[in-house]
Amino acid sequence: MQADIIIVGAGMVGSAMALALKDSGLDILLVDGAPVQPRPFDPAAPFEPRVSALSTASRNLLENLGAWPGIRARRCSPYAHMQVWDGSGTGQIGFSAASVHAEVLGHIVENRVVQDALLEGLQDGPVRLLGESRVERLERGASGWRVTLADGRELQAPLLVAADGANSAVRRMAGCETREWDYFHHAIVTSVRCEQEHGLTAWQRFTDDGPLAFLPLDRQGDRHWCSIVWSCTPAEAERLMRLDDEAFRAALGRAFEHRLGEVLEVDPRLCIPLRQRHAKRYVAPGLALIGDAAHVIHPLAGQGVNLGFLDAGVLAEELLKAHGRGEPLHSERVLARFERRRMPNNLTMMAAMEGFERLFQADLPAVRWLRNAGLRLADRHHLLKSLFVRQALGLDGDLPALARA
Ligand SMILES: Cc1cc2nc3c(=O)[nH]c(=O)nc-3n(C[C@H](O)[C@H](O)[C@H](O)COP(=O)(O)OP(=O)(O)OC[C@H]3O[C@@H](n4cnc5c(N)ncnc54)[C@H](O)[C@@H]3O)c2cc1C
Repeated sequence: MQADIIIVGAGMVGSAMALALKDSGLDILLVDGAPVQPRPFDPAAPFEPRVSALSTASRNLLENLGAWPGIRARRCSPYAHMQVWDGSGTGQIGFSAASVHAEVLGHIVENRVVQDALLEGLQDGPVRLLGESRVERLERGASGWRVTLADGRELQAPLLVAADGANSAVRRMAGCETREWDYFHHAIVTSVRCEQEHGLTAWQRFTDDGPLAFLPLDRQGDRHWCSIVWSCTPAEAERLMRLDDEAFRAALGRAFEHRLGEVLEVDPRLCIPLRQRHAKRYVAPGLALIGDAAHVIHPLAGQGVNLGFLDAGVLAEELLKAHGRGEPLHSERVLARFERRRMPNNLTMMAAMEGFERLFQADLPAVRWLRNAGLRLADRHHLLKSLFVRQALGLDGDLPALARA
């Protein structure tokens, strides 16, 4: 099978990429090891354990791709406030959307809901979808990439886009190098029902072990549910995963200082090892890496897929411009423009998260004092706070047109 572009990975980022190029007239193949049809949705069903805090920029992009109505029709929860505090001191800081005259700071959405709403827009369209088709081999020849699937079928295209996630097989098979290191943290994710309503607030407590986030969910108007991301050492994560539900709820309530009262119910838990990973280059001849295939960052700021959507938006924008000018899409100049626009932005965000993570891991009394004093001071500094809020909205920097309102 021959195409102009092969996109490997129909997760949130790969599907967004395909949708952004859908009406370009280009022949596009979107390939995934899993099925690529949206799944039936039951609004009363339990929450999926994997959720993302989507920035306003991501919402704009999903809106411009026509996927936002599908997300709203399924399930999403806006949040308008954020409370962050240091569990080992007195420092805390609060943010609100109203401070920058916005209605919301973002939305918490189950990853599956985002992916299904995007896939919905690709059904019966010009993009050719190949589900249950795992990529097993890659070869680069004179006319571009030859991709071999697990069932032996062969695909060919001059441009390959890797959106196949953190453990990207395409990145590995193409020989792209990464810088990576362990955070020595695992994240426990699940949904919990609390005694009190969440008040449309995203809560984050920095504990000695790592950050603990409670993100607001909404199931048919019930605002007592939160998605939790509890980052801790692997040993502690192992201990917490072994607890029965009752003991886990009690431990979680204590770690969260019972800010929303008792934790009354807990869904099945998932434990995810956290590892920072960044490809040294996002491009190689005829190849571009986007989303987690290019960069994986600590979930404490909830930025991974927000950065991935901007990668997809910028790459699509550069490819469409090149197509309009009659420039070959796989040309080094076109791909380098994508990399120049995205890499500095992603590196800045990753460095900021790394700094935060280290600051809150530090055990030295002087660092703790500074950290708490800094949080209290920043909380009183309106200009500084609105800068933080604009970062959370994701509306600063070199945005693709798709991410603008
Ligand atoms: C605990 C946690 C919390 C997070 N919270 C947030 C948050 O609040 N906000 C945020 O922005 N980000 C968050 N993230 C990050 C976010 O989840 C990721 O950035 C995002 O899921 C990456 O999407 P992707 O499409 O790049 O990759 P993936 O979702 O991993 O998709 C990859 C796709 O490629 C397919 N694939 C893989 N290998 C092959 C192959 N060989 N052949 C064919 N197909 C293949 C897979 O089936 C899959 O569909 C969080 C991450 C974690 C771990």
